[in-house]
Amino acid sequence: MAHKMKDATKKASKSARPSSGILDTQALADKIRKNALKKKQEQAAAPALEPPIAPSVVLEDKVVDASAETAIQSFAEFDLIPEILESIQAMKFTKPTPIQAESIPHALAGKDIIGLAQTGSGKTAAFAIPILQALWHAKTPYFSLVLAPTRELAFQIKETFDALGSSMGLRSVCIVGGMDMMDQARDLMRKPHVIVATPGRITDHLEHTKGFSLKNLKYLVMDEADRLLDMDFGPALDKILKVIPVERTSYLFSATMTNKIAKLQRASLKNPVRVAVSNKYQTADNLVQSMMLVSDGYKNTFLVHLLNEFMGKSIIVFTRTVANSERTAILTRLLGFSSVPLNGQLSQTQRLGALNKFKSGKANILIATDVAARGLDIPSVDVVINYDIPTDSKAYIHRVGRTARAGKSGKSISLVTQYDLELYLRIESVLGKKLPKDPSPSKQVLNTLHVHVDRAVAEAIRQMKDIHERRGNRNHRDNHDREER
Ligand code: AMP
Repeated sequence: MAHKMKDATKKASKSARPSSGILDTQALADKIRKNALKKKQEQAAAPALEPPIAPSVVLEDKVVDASAETAIQSFAEFDLIPEILESIQAMKFTKPTPIQAESIPHALAGKDIIGLAQTGSGKTAAFAIPILQALWHAKTPYFSLVLAPTRELAFQIKETFDALGSSMGLRSVCIVGGMDMMDQARDLMRKPHVIVATPGRITDHLEHTKGFSLKNLKYLVMDEADRLLDMDFGPALDKILKVIPVERTSYLFSATMTNKIAKLQRASLKNPVRVAVSNKYQTADNLVQSMMLVSDGYKNTFLVHLLNEFMGKSIIVFTRTVANSERTAILTRLLGFSSVPLNGQLSQTQRLGALNKFKSGKANILIATDVAARGLDIPSVDVVINYDIPTDSKAYIHRVGRTARAGKSGKSISLVTQYDLELYLRIESVLGKKLPKDPSPSKQVLNTLHVHVDRAVAEAIRQMKDIHERRGNRNHRDNHDREER
């Protein structure tokens, strides 16, 4: 986003130049100032990179299938200390996952690693196990720094470290934004072995917390490095790279190998081994996936706009809650569409009834929650609309898999509000690609539609209330707004 803004500013300043080719004094002064500033910035940026090192050569390049059987059948084959094996057993990991089987031996041999693997592949343990094994022998504070792009991921990583290090007296901290700086400073003073952090907050501590330094760091991990770079953490990463030793081991984990990763790899890894786990969660090639950015109050309007666009096609609209499924079904019917709800609040007979209506073509729109859709034989449809973004990335794959089956083409569109961005980025990271953004309808179309839709929404809510009062279902409200997972 920031890059785009920079480009836009560049373009704007280009077009502001006099076309005659003769610069006036103001423009000349601006130009000189700009050049001086640019030079200064370049000079300031130069030491951010470590002392020049030869471009890294990937020593070995292995791509393993995530679902393939690995040669390594047990963690005992890695020659780990008993404390770690004990924790692995307690965590009920019976055998290494492919990314673990392929990367741990190289990591234990002291190599830098580039791991191309998604969340869910077991990548956290793939980097945590060799770090803990090395820590057992060294037992020094501030031994490892793990950088993650989001707070949630940072907490998850810390949990994995704590579980794997439970028998060896591991001290770890999670240093992320939104938490008290003083508390964190106190935690850092307790000399933890492993720090899991988001880049901005750990940079704050490096700059402001007296007595805290990473000059003895031995292991640096960048998890979801593609996202770390996507989210413009670049300046913070540069600051961190500047204050940690060049002599260290680095692990870089990423869902995809992008150009940015290639650059980062050159800056911070030495002769790494690259291990890639092929994407287990692939969507069909004939599926066209896209997203639409929607402001929260306009979600129904966008939905109705899309239903108009895809008039006559078979469509599944996925919602997260029973209430959304019911209300959206009523709303769309009020607006003249032929739709049926499918959710966990319906009895099995009702669900099958709804499904038959959809299958027979009496209704061309099915408004379903994930739970209701799972395990049912729903035919392939033309379009899948994610009215609500699923909280679980696998559910996304499952949903869009309802279209583009058996070689037929299909389309999926996700309505993404400002509140869904975090979830949505996680889905893109699992997919290993960015989805194109569909253009929004014009403001005029949207506003005209919005008036009608808003009125219908109010009526749908009123009808839902009536239905529930008639049903007099005491438990209904409790279960109603809960997510169906
Ligand atoms: P991650 O990709 O690190 O987010 O891990 C995904 C999930 O897989 C986590 O719940 C881990 O606890 C679990 N996991 C990691 N390694 C193994 C393993 N070898 N066997 C079974 N589960 C594992």
